[in-house]
Amino acid sequence: MGESTVIPLADLRYAAVAPRIPEQLRAPTGLLADRLGRPLRDLRISVTDRCNFRCSYCMPKDVFDRDYTFIPHASLLRFEEITRLARLFVAHGVVKLRLTGGEPLLRKNVEALIAQLAALRTPGGEPLDITLTTNGSLLARKAQALREAGLKRVTVSIDAIDDAVFRRMNDVDFPVADVLRGIEAAQRVGLAPIKLNMVVKRGTNDDQIVPLARHVRDHFGPGVVLRFIEYMDVGATNGWRMDEVLPSRQVVERLSAVFPLQRLPATAEGETAERWAYADGGGEVGCISSVTQAFCGDCNRARLSTEGKLFMCLFASRGHDLRALLRGGFSDEQIAAAIGEVWGGREDRYSQLRALVPPAPAAGERRVEMHYIGG
Ligand code: SAM
Ligand code: SF4
Ligand code: SF4
Repeated sequence: MGESTVIPLADLRYAAVAPRIPEQLRAPTGLLADRLGRPLRDLRISVTDRCNFRCSYCMPKDVFDRDYTFIPHASLLRFEEITRLARLFVAHGVVKLRLTGGEPLLRKNVEALIAQLAALRTPGGEPLDITLTTNGSLLARKAQALREAGLKRVTVSIDAIDDAVFRRMNDVDFPVADVLRGIEAAQRVGLAPIKLNMVVKRGTNDDQIVPLARHVRDHFGPGVVLRFIEYMDVGATNGWRMDEVLPSRQVVERLSAVFPLQRLPATAEGETAERWAYADGGGEVGCISSVTQAFCGDCNRARLSTEGKLFMCLFASRGHDLRALLRGGFSDEQIAAAIGEVWGGREDRYSQLRALVPPAPAAGERRVEMHYIGG
């Protein structure tokens, strides 16, 4: 697999390996497959590890406090570096790019990056599906500029419609009204479709499932799709417990008691959400059951961290240091071949294995945090 050396880095947070450059450089064919036969279609790019929220399931306040050291600016991939890598991933078959973080709208001038990415084309000449996941706090201000830069659609996280519950979930006392204004702005400028993500934590915000669904139906209509995400055991800081996971099956039961639902077929290969339509034609909702129904079997996603490490799985503890190649003078051919090697050796399927053997990271390593590699 080419994982030979574990390299010490000045700003090392998670273990990283130097990707191996194969001696025979084979040009990307777009047909790359990992060891389980899964293609590479989706690249998630974390543009910052910083965030203005402190959602307890992601960046609990007692860990990510004033003393926490975020990645220094010089260590971040520059926009040109991200775009160069994105181009190589596209040559390998990637058709979808998602900017995430941390809070991606905190990255200065992120619109400029979107404009660079929007200019990329697949080998067949098609534009890419470019999207962004945001907590919505800065969306009202930024929606227009994002759209003009070439962003097509957006996913906004919203964990409650009740203001008190929402403030408790973000743990920085941020009002839900500002996020709702952000969603309205996104709709107004034509970002579509808009998806909303609600992470459901049993006993904390599960009483918001029906009220939030009702609000979305009444105020935004069928163009906005609410998705319920099972609370995941990602990272090592959120104190995850299985009894705080509300299985999607129960989300569907609770919703359908108020709004009858009909199951819809998946629209895309590797789609994570199970889709349900409101029987009265009022749009659809989705359930992302990462804990109770693993979807590793067709996981076609790679993740690029803020400082240029490539992760093969949300639950990985070791990345592959692409920044070292970018800044080490390697050619596009060499970097593309190294990416091909890494993906070719991939056999990650954490969620499928979770129930069998909870795999602890190796000694001296820790699982990567969500705000660092993005959701
Ligand atoms: N800050 C942005 C946001 O919140 O939308 C983007 C980054 S955030 C890490 C991406 C997504 O991951 C969000 O929808 C968030 O709710 C979700 N997420 C974070 N921690 C999670 C966890 N432990 N379980 C399930 N989803 C989680
Ligand atoms: Fe920030 Fe998003 Fe994590 Fe919440 S989920 S702390 S908004 S990065
Ligand atoms: Fe993909 Fe890893 Fe999630 Fe499975 S656990 S779906 S391999 S990111």
